[in-house]
Amino acid sequence: MSQYAIETIGLNKTYAANKKLKTQDKHALIDFDIKIPRGSIYGLLGPNGAGKSTFINILAGLVLKSAGLVKIWDADLETQQRLARASIGIVPQEINLDPFFTPAQILDIQGGLYGVRKKDRRTEELLELVGLSDKAGAYARSLSGGMKRRLMIAKALVHTPPILILDEPTAGVDVELRQMLWKNIRALNKAGTTIVLTTHYLEEAEELCDHIAIIDQGKKIKDSEKHALLAQIDSKEIHITTTSEIPHAILTQFEHCSPEITAPHKITLRYNVDDTNAGKIISTLQKQKLEICDISTQEPDLEDIFISLTSKA
Ligand code: ADP
Ligand code: MG
Repeated sequence: MSQYAIETIGLNKTYAANKKLKTQDKHALIDFDIKIPRGSIYGLLGPNGAGKSTFINILAGLVLKSAGLVKIWDADLETQQRLARASIGIVPQEINLDPFFTPAQILDIQGGLYGVRKKDRRTEELLELVGLSDKAGAYARSLSGGMKRRLMIAKALVHTPPILILDEPTAGVDVELRQMLWKNIRALNKAGTTIVLTTHYLEEAEELCDHIAIIDQGKKIKDSEKHALLAQIDSKEIHITTTSEIPHAILTQFEHCSPEITAPHKITLRYNVDDTNAGKIISTLQKQKLEICDISTQEPDLEDIFISLTSKA
C-alpha cells in the first residue's frame, strides 16, 4: 500500500484551440507531479487560472487528461477507474443541488447513485456531521448559502470515501461560515479522511493545511510541509518605537540590516537571521541613548513566500 492518497506523474492537460472562439491551445497543467500523503490536509494554492480546477476535474472524471499517470488510493485512474472514483468524494466549486428535494432525499439519491445499499446509507449520520439534522425534511431551496455548502460536503461523503476533495470551499463566503467550514474540515480529517482542497486564499492554506503545493500557470512551483515552507524564509522584520526622536545619523550604525525611519519615533529594520539578531539591533539603539518604549516583530508568512516564488517565475 502506498503512503499516498493521490499521486500523479507527468500529468498534462491541454485544452484544444477553438477556432470559432479564436482561442489557442491552453496548457492548463504542465508536467504536474504531486504526491498527497494519506491523512493530510493538502492545499493546492494558486491564483485564478493556475490549473487547480483542471486537476480536480481530472480526478472527478469530468476532464480527460492529455498525458500522465494518476493514482487515487493506489488505483490507476485510467485502468481502474471505478476503484479510483470510489475512493474520492468531490465538492465542486459551484453549488448544484436540486431545489425540490430535501437534504435527506438528496443524500439518499446520491447514495443510490453510488450503489450504497439502503441499510448501509448514512443519511442521518451525515446530516448530523454537517449540522443539518433539523433541516433533514426542508426543501433544499429554503436552505441558506452556508447550509447548502455543508450539504454539498455531506453529499460528497455518502460512499464513505477515504479522500474528500473541495474546490475553493470558501470562495465568496463570509468570515463566520468560513470558520465553520474549516471546523467541519478539520473534524473530518481528524476522523481519518484525507482532505485535498484548492484555494486562492493564502490565509486559508496557512490556517488549515499541513501540506501546501503552490501552483502557477499550470506548473507546480513548490510543494512542502507547511512548516518547512514557512521556515524557508529566514528574513525578519522588527518595528521599534522610541521615546525621543530618532536621529537620521543612526542609520549608518546598523550592520547587516536595512533600517528605515518610518516616523520621528519609529524605525523598522529588516534582516536575515544568519547575519544579525534583535539583541544587536537593540544595543545599537541604546548606545545612541535612545529609550525603547515598544517593540514588535513580524514573522514571515505564506504571502512572502508566495510573492517571492511567483515573482521569480
Ligand atoms: P483555476 O481553478 O486554478 O482557477 P482552471 O483549472 O479553471 O484554473 O483553469 C486553468 C486554465 O485553463 C485557465 O487559463 C482557463 O481559462 C483554462 N481552461 C479551463 N477550462 C477550460 C476549457 N474547458 N477549455 C479551455 N480552456 C479552459
Ligand atoms: Mg478553479
